[in-house]
Amino acid sequence: MPTPLPAPYFVAASASAAALIGLDPALLAQPDYVELLSGNSVAERSQPLAAVYSGHQFGVWAGQLGDGRAILLGDIATENGPMELQLKGAGATPYSRMGDGRAVLRSSIREFLCSEAMAALGIPTSRALAITGSQQGIMRETVETAAVVTRMAPSFVRFGSFEHWFSRKKPDELKILADYVIDSFYPELRTQDNPYQALLAEVCRRTAHMIAHWQAVGFMHGVMNTDNMSILGLTLDYGPFGFMEAFDAEHICNHTDSQGRYSYANQPQVGHWNCYALGQALLPLIGEVSLAQAALDSYEPAFAAKMNELLRAKLGLRTEQGDDSQLFDAMFAVMQANHVDFTNFFRALGNLQVGAPENDTELRDMFIDRPAFDGWALQYRARLLLEQSDDLPRKLAMDQVNPKYVLRNYLAQVAIDKAQRQDYTEVAQLLAVLQKPFDEQPEHQHYAALPPDWASHLEVSCSS
Ligand code: AMP
Ligand code: MG
Repeated sequence: MPTPLPAPYFVAASASAAALIGLDPALLAQPDYVELLSGNSVAERSQPLAAVYSGHQFGVWAGQLGDGRAILLGDIATENGPMELQLKGAGATPYSRMGDGRAVLRSSIREFLCSEAMAALGIPTSRALAITGSQQGIMRETVETAAVVTRMAPSFVRFGSFEHWFSRKKPDELKILADYVIDSFYPELRTQDNPYQALLAEVCRRTAHMIAHWQAVGFMHGVMNTDNMSILGLTLDYGPFGFMEAFDAEHICNHTDSQGRYSYANQPQVGHWNCYALGQALLPLIGEVSLAQAALDSYEPAFAAKMNELLRAKLGLRTEQGDDSQLFDAMFAVMQANHVDFTNFFRALGNLQVGAPENDTELRDMFIDRPAFDGWALQYRARLLLEQSDDLPRKLAMDQVNPKYVLRNYLAQVAIDKAQRQDYTEVAQLLAVLQKPFDEQPEHQHYAALPPDWASHLEVSCSS
């Protein structure tokens, strides 16, 4: 059962998340709902539970973890199937180990905003319905205040849920879990020769696609441990994540990740590695190593195909050409050498006019080495001419895939600083901007600005 919080209050809610479960978002600020969402009361038919799982953390087997501070309330039937509701930070559970079972307002705001921002970007993710808070003090590096995020997903089952029963040598429980996941979320796999192999292949495909989406918007998860990998291929467990600003493929967003295991450049490979951990856990059900291997081999081509598809869209290319990857590699090389802002570069690229290099000023000015940009732009223009690309339709299409607004760390920090003074207006405002990431929103231009000086050394750790 959740542990009640003293005098909980409403902090924020997402209307689009509420719509998914047919709920009027205005209700979420009402006292009854604040009680429910803080774990102070439990709905009549709800049977709260915390789930066990294990996992590999930073490549090392960590043993049992489990929902140390997340409590599942149950699910709600929707048009698109059941949606589970989970309170994160609702108090200790049997899996809390040394933790207090709580979450602080800072990390709750980050998870809330990013979940909803990712959904608006069209990236598979768990959702965030609301945040409630309390003045209860929580000890982290300093004393902070408590909050609860209500998360939603069709399921919170993780790779680590399977690794748990595999490591405990409990094949019967492993099978119950796999059958539950297949029957509930992948019913079409039931008729395959080997449904467990098919499950592994499908999870590889979804994971590869999810990570291709991350790469395409410069999202870095920060803690891609196997216990944070969703069996549905959803972005899950937002902690020290970041969006790429000055491009550096080796960028590490998690201050605690000293080896850079989860750097931007490593994410695709780590996704594959995590699928191997899942494959190992499913092996007793799959039966043959060669079958598991065949499923795992689908990861790389699935990633490459999705990545190329997304990059072609980012560059406004309608056709596929043999040397596309050369064009992409050359682009990332000049971006890397000049550390251009990831989001603003792609957004500005939509303004390029094929026949007017003299109008490239906005783009060129992003590069210290302007001739290097010119060199790549020459190649890009030739490619656009090849498919007789028209400037206006291309720009309109590119603006639908290259966001103007992403959750930059400094934007989150401004909202957090205000919220810590009990002013939640910026959380709501930022959410509104991020829910329309592809719209120009001229009145909100400043949300697309580069980080100010004070934010250039913002560090984000696992502490949450
Ligand atoms: P994370 O790095 O957030 O994915 O957390 C790893 C594990 O530690 C998960 O099993 C969490 O449920 C658990 N955990 C994290 N923070 C806390 C906390 N404050 N209290 C209890 N368990 C926690
Ligand atoms: Mg986690």
